Order: sequence, then structure tokens, then C-alpha cells
Amino acid sequence: MIKEKYNKKTIFSCEVFPPKRNDDIYDIFKTLDEIKLLNPDFISVTYGAGGSNSKKTATIAAYIQNICEIEALAHVTAVGLDENSLTELLSELKRKQVQNVLALRGDKPRTMTEEEFEGRYYKHASDLIKVIKEKSDDMYIAAACYPEIHPESKSREDDIRYLKLKADYGVDSFITQMFFDNDILYRFLEDIRSAGINVPVHAGIMPITKVNQLGTSVSLSGSSVPKKLSNLIAKYSEDPEGMKKAGTEYAIDQVTDLIAHGVEGIHIYSMNKSDVTSEIYKAAF
Ligand code: FAD
Repeated sequence: MIKEKYNKKTIFSCEVFPPKRNDDIYDIFKTLDEIKLLNPDFISVTYGAGGSNSKKTATIAAYIQNICEIEALAHVTAVGLDENSLTELLSELKRKQVQNVLALRGDKPRTMTEEEFEGRYYKHASDLIKVIKEKSDDMYIAAACYPEIHPESKSREDDIRYLKLKADYGVDSFITQMFFDNDILYRFLEDIRSAGINVPVHAGIMPITKVNQLGTSVSLSGSSVPKKLSNLIAKYSEDPEGMKKAGTEYAIDQVTDLIAHGVEGIHIYSMNKSDVTSEIYKAAF
């Protein structure tokens, strides 16, 4: 269980996502075999919006847990789930020896109407957390948090109040949305600690290794981009190799500073790239 890892100074973990095409599943297994060599404390697997690809999430999580022998954290999104399908999903994960879940609300999938989204069975991640805790008290439950607040939140106070609800329902840890300026995380940690949220927080780091990656990532996450990073992107707009190197170095600097500040965990959004993840780990840990 991930819980048993918290005696370490800084927990190291990363995220992978299931490939779109079934045939590409072996590519992700190969990537995982490479990431395994770094001996991460856990590897998380994303869940397609509205439950698309959920079978692949479970298959990949089982590979991580049973073949790589690394703790697997399976993402689960509330959108698209009701009581029966949640019970079924938790049973499937348990059958596959996966004991750790990241409980999320999820966003509206393109295939869902606004009405269907609004009428979802579990409204928020906190509803999912409460039910998972009741059904499977032995599961490790992580949840998402947003150092720059969730884009839909009315205020920072509201966002932190709902985060506290997730903690009160028994979340074991939080993983942050990506951020590119560590001071944003330090301020957030101060605020949530003074609000009485004391569970470990894993800092989510997204290495920007391609010029066009930032646009997609930022529009999805709402994360702000410091001048230093936007300057790098402008500088390497015609130089993919240079961008990959500079983006990896930017992430290494972020991680080194976070470890020096005593963060509890570093979670790399690997984008299924074992070489970049490995470089960051070897340079910063
Ligand atoms: P919630 O905690 O429900 O929060 C959503 C909004 O509602 C916030 O504004 C919050 O303040 C507010 N809120 C929370 N609780 C309440 C309440 N009880 N009453 C009223 N308002 C409330 N998406 C995927 O589809 N698949 C993934 O695998 C995936 N992985 C992710 C991993 C991480 C680490 C992160 C940070 C995000 C991930 N996402 C994923 C995206 C996530 O689904 C979206 O950010 C989504 O918009 C919110 O999910 P949440 O669990 O934070 O929702």
C-alpha cells in the first residue's frame, strides 16, 4: 500500500495514460518496464473522460501492481458512474490486486450533453470518496487539489473548503494539478495547512518538452505560465531537441527546489516518456 511509503523523505511517483489504440498497449508495458528501473513508490494510471478506456486503466494498473511489482494507483472518475458500476469497478480492481485509487469528479466528455453531465449520479469527488470509504475501508484513496484553484471555483476559500471536505471524508493524500512556479505551491500549502488539511500533498510536475504541449496543458488546467518558461518556448520554437532539453532542465530545477523545501511527494506527469522521467529522477533525487 502507498500508505506504507510515508516514512521516506520524498515520495517519487509518476502518471501514465492508456493508449488510444488497443494495439499500442504493449508500448505502455515497455514504458512501464523502463520506469520500473527507477523503483518509483507508485505509478498512477489515468481514466478516460466518462469512463472510456476504463478496462485499459484496470489492465495497466494490474500490470504495474503484479508484473512490475510497483504500487499502482488507478484513477476513477465519478462522471459516468452510479452505485452499481462503482461497486463493479472496485471489485475488478481488487480482483486485480489494485488497492489504491485516485478519486476524481472528471470533466464533461464530448459525447455527453450538458444535461447528462449535470444529472450525474455522483456530483463531486467528495461524494465518490465517501462511498469508496464506506464500501472499501481498506483502499488507499488519493484525490486532486489545485494550487491555483479549480477553474470552476468561485473563490479560493470555497475551493479550500471543499478540499477540506475530501480530507474529512478520509482521503489519504492529494496530488496537485500541474504548476510551473513553486511559490504558488508553497502559498497553497500554507493556506491548506492553516485550514486544518494535514494529509500529504504530492506535487504534480509536468515537464514541457514540446513547444505546442504548453498550450494544450495550460488550456486544460488553467495553470499560469511564468515568463521564464514562456521565454524558453519562444527561444526553442524551431528546435525540438533544444526544447526537450530545456523543458527537462526546467522540471529538474522545479523538483530540486521542491525537495529542498521538504515537499512530501513529487508526481511526474510522464506523458508516457520514460527517458524524460528518468532524467528528472536521476538529476533531482
Ligand atoms: P471536485 O473535487 O468535485 O471539484 C470540482 C469543482 O467543484 C471545484 O471547483 C470544487 O471546488 C467544487 N466542489 C468540490 N466539492 C464540492 C461540493 N461538495 N459541493 C460543491 N462544490 C464542490 N480527469 C479525468 O477525466 N481522468 C483522469 O484520470 C484525471 N486525472 C487527474 C489527476 C490529477 C492529479 C488532477 C489534478 C486532475 C485529473 N483529472 C482527470 C481532471 C479532473 O477530473 C478535473 O480537474 C475535474 O474538473 C475536477 O475533478 P475533481 O476531482 O478535482 O473534482
